Amino acid sequence: MSRVRRSGTKPELALRTALRRARVRYRPVSGSKLPGSPDFVFRQARLAVFVDGCFWHGCPKHGTTPKTNTFFWLTKILRNRRRDRRADRLLKSLGWRVLRLWEHETRCDIDRAARQIKALVKIRTDT
Ligand SMILES: [Zn+2]
Repeated sequence: MSRVRRSGTKPELALRTALRRARVRYRPVSGSKLPGSPDFVFRQARLAVFVDGCFWHGCPKHGTTPKTNTFFWLTKILRNRRRDRRADRLLKSLGWRVLRLWEHETRCDIDRAARQIKALVKIRTDT
């Protein structure tokens, strides 16, 4: 399990609905060709959005440390985080903007997340 990320997972679907509600034009494009495989790709705005799982990416609020195999999990999470940073750097060097949302943000305040995306998409299309 190199990456816990399939397309059409729950947080992604919820965010897609919220984007529609916020009237953000979004055509699903595969991010698989971009560094880190972003969950949402806004090509025109050159915005890449990731929804990071709280456990897998070590969310400061919900990143728990498992009591068994602690070292194994911590190493894994650290590695994920390093990979995230690397993907961010690569994307930025390619002229993309990166927005990372925690999975919990798509749970408790998804409309805020959608508004955040909307604002970023707008910035580019207005110029
Ligand atoms: Zn979290």
